[in-house]
Amino acid sequence: MHAEIAGAGFAGLTAAIALHRRGWTVRVHEKNAELRTFGAGIFIWENGLRVLHAIGAHEDVVRGAHQPPAYETRRNGVCVAFEKVNGDNRYRLLTMTRQHLYAGILASAHREGIEILTNSGVVGALPEGVLQLADGRKLLADLVIAADGVRSAVRDSLGLACTRQKYQDGIIRVLVPRGTFVGGDWDHVIDFWAFEPRILRTIYAPCEDGQLYFAMMSPREDTAAATLPVDPAIWASCFPSLAPLFETIGSRGRYDVYEMARLDSWSVGRVAIVGDSAHAMPPTLAQGAGCAMMNALSLAEFVNEASDVVMRLRQWEAQERPLTDHTQARAAELVQTRALGGGMQWDDVGLRAALHVPTGTRPVEFAQLRHTYI
Ligand SMILES: Cc1cc2nc3c(=O)[nH]c(=O)nc-3n(C[C@H](O)[C@H](O)[C@H](O)COP(=O)(O)OP(=O)(O)OC[C@H]3O[C@@H](n4cnc5c(N)ncnc54)[C@H](O)[C@@H]3O)c2cc1C
Repeated sequence: MHAEIAGAGFAGLTAAIALHRRGWTVRVHEKNAELRTFGAGIFIWENGLRVLHAIGAHEDVVRGAHQPPAYETRRNGVCVAFEKVNGDNRYRLLTMTRQHLYAGILASAHREGIEILTNSGVVGALPEGVLQLADGRKLLADLVIAADGVRSAVRDSLGLACTRQKYQDGIIRVLVPRGTFVGGDWDHVIDFWAFEPRILRTIYAPCEDGQLYFAMMSPREDTAAATLPVDPAIWASCFPSLAPLFETIGSRGRYDVYEMARLDSWSVGRVAIVGDSAHAMPPTLAQGAGCAMMNALSLAEFVNEASDVVMRLRQWEAQERPLTDHTQARAAELVQTRALGGGMQWDDVGLRAALHVPTGTRPVEFAQLRHTYI
């Protein structure tokens, strides 16, 4: 069995490794000249860590990633919610740079000997199992996977009904050196909110190697705050304790508006759509990549040894989609209400994906995972 995969992001590489480990031949097409990821930092919850374990990337990713002892929310300078993490609770939540996560997954793909072609843009697919490249070639496969992100060309070529929505807020993401912001509370993830004199949010998340991930949210209509380069005075006026760090940002950072994509169907014939191309979601639950990797792994598990790929893709969606739909809907609700300003909402609704044991993961006990690597 052979798969052609569009996109060497988190979803595409996870699917490639998982299929290869199940005896498939795979080829991944990446439009960029380099294998790398964009953005700054990322949160990976227990479910994502379990997927990483299943694709041979867990040890590399966990080693060096930051393990915050606590996650707190401060509103106008006052702590309004505090949770211990990575201790004796049922889940881990690690913070790291995107490059760290990507390098761990890519290293596993290389160990598997997976073929990844760069400068290999994809323009579309046909339901009978054909991937169409930008250079005009058409590649035949038992399974084609569209993992080419929120602006997926493959998805759009199939004419699938897709709802896309942008929200009222967006976020500047940047990595800066932690400097002296080390030890005590400064090892926590701190979600700073201000509602007066303007609505702003800054997530302070330490990462590996002395780096700090800042995710700085502002309403789109607040053009002074939502514009690059970051104006340190605006942000320091709401979050004075972070003032020295805002000064170090300079010209770094990128601004993205929160958005979501929702497909009527995750497959057409032999073509499966996975990751942001099928279910991009606002990052309020930090589960976009977690769901992308879970669904890529479960996809491989469903088509494993399947004689009828088309039927297995339908069964895959029927079983796996409800959790992603739930997570996406809750993430959207949290954007619209800005309820995270009152605390992190880590109830069974918000944590459902984080606490899920992903399809295709071996039955490794959490305690074993934790004590092996943390
Ligand atoms: C502000 C923000 C913060 C976030 N924070 C978190 C978080 O903390 N935790 C979390 O789990 N998720 C988070 N996410 C979500 C996460 O980034 C995405 O869900 C994840 O990157 C999706 O992975 P993917 O592989 O589906 O898509 P992508 O990461 O977008 O990868 C797609 C790949 O396909 C390639 N490609 C695109 N078009 C083509 C083409 N035509 N031909 C060939 N290749 C192509 C791209 O170059 C890229 O390599 C966040 C998102 C945002 C916007």
